Amino acid sequence: MLALLSGGPALAQDAAVTIRAGRLLDGRGGVARDATVVVTGDVITRVAAGGSTPATYDLSRLTVLPGLIDSHVHLTWYITSRGRLHQASDGDTPGQAAVAAAGNAYAMLMAGFTTVQSMGAPEDAELRDAIARGVVPGPRVVTTLGSLSERTGGPDSIRAAVRRFRARGADAIKIFASASIRDGGTPTMTDAQLEAACGEATSLGLRSIVHAHSAASMRSAALAGCTQVEHGVFATPEVLALLAERGTYFDPQCELVFRNYLDNKPWFEGIGNYNAAGFAAMERVIPQRKLLGQRWLATPGLRVVYGTDAVAGAHGRNAQDLVCRVQTVGQPAAAAIVSATSLSAEALGLGTRIGTIAPGMQADLIAVDGDPLQDITALQRVVFVMKGGRVYRNVAPAAGGR
Ligand SMILES: [Zn+2]
Repeated sequence: MLALLSGGPALAQDAAVTIRAGRLLDGRGGVARDATVVVTGDVITRVAAGGSTPATYDLSRLTVLPGLIDSHVHLTWYITSRGRLHQASDGDTPGQAAVAAAGNAYAMLMAGFTTVQSMGAPEDAELRDAIARGVVPGPRVVTTLGSLSERTGGPDSIRAAVRRFRARGADAIKIFASASIRDGGTPTMTDAQLEAACGEATSLGLRSIVHAHSAASMRSAALAGCTQVEHGVFATPEVLALLAERGTYFDPQCELVFRNYLDNKPWFEGIGNYNAAGFAAMERVIPQRKLLGQRWLATPGLRVVYGTDAVAGAHGRNAQDLVCRVQTVGQPAAAAIVSATSLSAEALGLGTRIGTIAPGMQADLIAVDGDPLQDITALQRVVFVMKGGRVYRNVAPAAGGR
């Protein structure tokens, strides 16, 4: 069959598409003025200095960079038509929930996020697969399909649960090793449980992603060989140094998730731990975000990926934490952009396919109005989105604009 195909008439070749960039950030810290990117099918085939005219897409007044990556979103969380966080028992139909999740995916793609990792729900699988087939517009989705916690059981039960997630098609394993920030963030899993979860995941070739707020739970995760630690609101310089030493990726949030909760209390108030004490705990994080950020920024060798924890109401605003990192924490814009592109791609195990503009990589490209190296808020002005060679957004500002 293969021989027949290769010996038959030439298959239709994809015509090359050229993109002229006024400024090109390659996702690894490289910057070029006036460059042309050639895309054939879904792959970047050439990156050349200078502008070729005419280009299929003339983005010569814009900055072109790799599609952004958000390493921590909640794809299926949404606010219902009644203005409340969707709950299983609130009367919304599965159809309503599915459409809302597709809307979240679309909002993130339009905001320039061409890949997201969902800390997941079982329903993520259908949406992930529909997006991959091109049926629904959205970012590439990597999902955990659910999570493990201390309630999953002893080490043997935990290992069995990891194997079940893999059998269902999970791309990674999510593990809760500490309480929520709204409940103090203290450790919830024993070291034996954590070692079982991360060890089993590793042995199956899956990454393990650990929710941990306290320094003690972060430390346990790093020592158990887990791939990545999320949140770390109570991180100490010592535990961050341990993460760096162990090669554990760190995914802290800056402010989007907390602001989204605090600015929209009526959506959440009275559900679970979204109570007065929970909101007060989140209020306390806001003034500390600079100190926390400076802590991880000052840790040599620590690999800090980009994840916003985008929950209901926050999808499409995923670039806000990049602005927060640069303007509030003081991370250099170039490093923040590398974090949200090539470094997050590497942490996802996709570093050879996405996150960089170079020949052979997937054609995930965005363009923004302005220079994000000078003004990080340019990342909130996405005017062009290409994912896998297909253009989903092209609303370049008219000539004569900025
Ligand atoms: Zn989360």
